Amino acid sequence: MEAQYVLGIDVGGTSVKIAVLSVEGNLLEKWNIPTDKANNGANVLKDISSSVDEHLSKLKLNKNQFIGAGIGVPGFINMEKGMVDFAVNIGWKDYPIVRILSECLDMPVAVDNDANLAAAGEYWQGAGTGADDVILFTIGTGVGGGIIVKGDILHGVGGMGGEIGHVTVVPEGGAPCNCGKTGCLETVSSATGIVRIANMEAEKNKESSLYKQKQEGIQLTTKNIFEAAALGDQTADTVIEKAMYYLGLAAANIANVLNPQRIVIGGGVSAAGEQLLFPLRNHYEKFALDRVKLDSEFVLAELGNDAGVMGAAWLAKKYLKD
Ligand SMILES: [Zn+2]
Repeated sequence: MEAQYVLGIDVGGTSVKIAVLSVEGNLLEKWNIPTDKANNGANVLKDISSSVDEHLSKLKLNKNQFIGAGIGVPGFINMEKGMVDFAVNIGWKDYPIVRILSECLDMPVAVDNDANLAAAGEYWQGAGTGADDVILFTIGTGVGGGIIVKGDILHGVGGMGGEIGHVTVVPEGGAPCNCGKTGCLETVSSATGIVRIANMEAEKNKESSLYKQKQEGIQLTTKNIFEAAALGDQTADTVIEKAMYYLGLAAANIANVLNPQRIVIGGGVSAAGEQLLFPLRNHYEKFALDRVKLDSEFVLAELGNDAGVMGAAWLAKKYLKD
């Protein structure tokens, strides 16, 4: 029987998302299991495997009907060697994930970084469909992303390609980043960065509703910053302008190099929609080459939390098909 299904697995710090898809990308079933981080994540793959067995028997599917499984992991991945070099959130270090998981699951396995796979998911079944050159920015607690060039993930020589969040946008005097540098895009355009800028701006503008919220003991979030801006608060507007200036600068510089067809904006902060896209486009257009601008369009991500499992399934389909 010809293999016609793929498994997509997306490992996160609190839960593992798992999905069964047809090779055409139709979702048959998806579910979550908790991530057991005890003993440096020693049980995670066994938990995945027994949960997959349970669901496949419920779906009356056989493993020989599967091309294999793709798995996304947050951290530094060596895709070719099938190794997790380092995944600090899970506890894996120099972990031969492809060997162990393919033994547990009894099917071929391919691994990649979770942000790369989110980009692949949007490219395959989401906002990037129909384009071959796609950049995804995931604006959440941090800034993640991935780059699709000619229908494949850009990895670079050591798997570090596509680390969009760590493009330097504040060359001098920038805030410290989790990566050890300062002034990365993540420090100014992530939810954390936007809230940090808002706290600074609120102190400078005491008539702002953001300052009043702080006085009342309310912790600023991107949601109430975008809400304040929608109600006409100048300070909140300044905060969003600043964050989108840096995102537009980074997006234009990356686009000037890659000449993408679509730039997809996802992650929790993208819920702001046009309130985010409008200033972003304005700043992007200042820094992008005319020809690059003509070819590219900004779109919001479509798959939400499913992007990772969809991309993982795409990885299995792309790399495990004989
Ligand atoms: Zn950084």
